[in-house]
Amino acid sequence: VKETSRLPATSPTGDPWLLTPGPLTTSPAVKRAMLHDYGSRDPQFVDVNRRIRDRLTGIVRGQGTHVCVPLQGSGTFAVEAMLGTLVPVGGRVLILVNGAYGRRMALICRYAGRSFATLEWSEEAAIDPAAVEQALARDASITHVAAVHCETTSGVLNPLGALAEAVARRGRALLVDAMSSFGALPLDFRTMPIEAVAASANKCLEGVPGLAFCIVRQTALEAAAGNAHALSLDLNAQWAAMELDGQWRFTPPTHAILALERALEELEDEGGVAGRHVRYAENCRLLVQGMRNLGFETLLTEAVQAPIIVTFCMPAEPRFVFAAFYEGMRAKGFVIYPGKLTAVESFRIGCIGRIGPREMEQAVAAAAATLAEMGVRSGATESFSIEVGPVQQRVT
Ligand SMILES: *Cc1c(COP(=O)(O)O)cnc(C)c1O
Repeated sequence: VKETSRLPATSPTGDPWLLTPGPLTTSPAVKRAMLHDYGSRDPQFVDVNRRIRDRLTGIVRGQGTHVCVPLQGSGTFAVEAMLGTLVPVGGRVLILVNGAYGRRMALICRYAGRSFATLEWSEEAAIDPAAVEQALARDASITHVAAVHCETTSGVLNPLGALAEAVARRGRALLVDAMSSFGALPLDFRTMPIEAVAASANKCLEGVPGLAFCIVRQTALEAAAGNAHALSLDLNAQWAAMELDGQWRFTPPTHAILALERALEELEDEGGVAGRHVRYAENCRLLVQGMRNLGFETLLTEAVQAPIIVTFCMPAEPRFVFAAFYEGMRAKGFVIYPGKLTAVESFRIGCIGRIGPREMEQAVAAAAATLAEMGVRSGATESFSIEVGPVQQRVT
């Protein structure tokens, strides 16, 4: 309780800090950037749009080989556009699945009527590039491989560099859902053979929701004319129209684009992807260390944990009720996230967005105070009979 009283309850706007996988806490300047109404066909807006496309392509070193095609909507819209545009009707995708977002790509292919196969791992494991290479050797009908970079379901980091090399060795094209890693984990198209990546403005780029994008190898995009299953998700048409006069085909999310331009300036000021990675990695370290001190157990080992979001296993003590823990954290100024695993009961705490070490330490203090309010002694997953017995009492 003493800890709680020292907590400044909220962010500068009076809203709780968002310790979620997105939308995230944004900076005051990003929010202020939206206090303008831009005409979608006005040269001023066309210039902003061109600048953000160039900047996004630059983040992955795709200049000269890849182009950025922005799209209205949440991240799923970009993943759906990427698969529907780049995989032709006669193609076949091998989808790598170790969580909900891999499964979602399979669902997208089913809706779009694209042939696919899946290769699956358990949710606490990273995908294995060697197994992918073997699968590609066995099935000559596969034209594309689709993978998630950081599987936000668990927070696991998939080995994208090794995967890209394996897929390239077998002469297939790699499509990546980098939604929760873009801007925080390095992606370099000069050294990684990647056909296309899909991401959105409101995760590690620290912009606001409403804007997604794909960065696509230009030759593949040109070859994809006529492939798409949906007018509004046709990346080839979206790109061709934008190249013609710099304008969007349909109403663009103008305010989200203004916010993203400011957010990209802040990314640059922070030292680009490398600088942001350092801050998130430190956030993650403080969160994991602090929560472990309270007895909580992480689902993942350090080796596969991405510094994006951490999955904690549900504590064993019966007094721990997630809904009450959530409310307690919320009352202290932190919004956390339920679990999404199929096998293990869990919840998640994100370490991305406009937050730093101070917020992570306060979040851990809020968790300690909330446990105390609930009468829970430990966040541990195993039962704790030994702790209340005489052995434990003598030790302490
Ligand atoms: C957030 C996310 C998405 C897209 O989710 P939306 O709710 O559509 O924005 C897709 N893939 C991954 C890995 C994500 O983390």
